[in-house]
Order: sequence, then structure tokens, then C-alpha cells
Amino acid sequence: MEIRYHGHSCFELIDGETTLLVDPFLAPNNPLADATAEDIDATHLALTHGHADHVADAVAVARRTKPQCVAMVELANWLEEQGVENVSDPNLGGTVIFDWGSIKLVPAWHTNTVPGSEERPFSAELGTPMGVPRGPDHQDGWPDHL
Ligand SMILES: [Zn+2]
Repeated sequence: MEIRYHGHSCFELIDGETTLLVDPFLAPNNPLADATAEDIDATHLALTHGHADHVADAVAVARRTKPQCVAMVELANWLEEQGVENVSDPNLGGTVIFDWGSIKLVPAWHTNTVPGSEERPFSAELGTPMGVPRGPDHQDGWPDHL
């Protein structure tokens, strides 16, 4: 597996034909990122929470590459409201299984909103933020404490 770090919390995990993009915050939104939303051909997209520095480029990547998306149910609903398709919406502890492995939502201590307006930079609370570890090839491989 190849792992590309694009700055902040944005990682690209590439394994064969699969490219999992986590928390896209890319140039120019993140002036320190080494890639733009046009540079990454994600087949899968996972979001930990809705803060702008984790989702700023999610919609742009998702509209262009049509990845399978995984996000906490409230954030998944927001993605769909932005016109994103192929969205899975597990809740805390939920696992989404793919042919290459799985993504499980685990607790993370933080807050969770999506970008709002200039007057109100953060929108309503969107529930619990999640860690999104990439799992083993089979769901049964997850330890109980995750
Ligand atoms: Zn945050």
C-alpha cells in the first residue's frame, strides 16, 4: 500500500485500483497542501467530521470521481444535500465493508459541524466526530475495543 500525506489530516491510501481519500483539505483551501481536488482520483472517501479543514474539498472530489463515501450519518446527509452520490451513513461503531476491506467509525474527542456562511462560519452541530480506520480484509478482524 502507498500512503500519500497531503497536509493537515488528509491522507490518500492507494492499494491497486483502490484509492481511499481521508479528510480532503487541499490547495488552495489549504495553502500548505501539495495537491488540489483535481489531482486526486479517489475511489473511496472517508470523512472524520464536518469541520472545513477536513471536508473543504470533499464535495469537489466526490462530484468529479464519484467515490464510495463513508461519513457519520449526519455528515453523510450533508454530503447528499451537496449532490454527492454513493454515500454510506453508518453511526458510531458502524462498519462499511468493501471488497478490499472495511471502514469502521470509532469515537474521537472533538466537535462536529459543517461549513456555514460568512456570518455563521459553523452550522448546526452534526453529532459525534469519528475516527475512520481502514480495516482488515474482513469485518471479523476488528478488535472489540475499536
Ligand atoms: Zn475539527
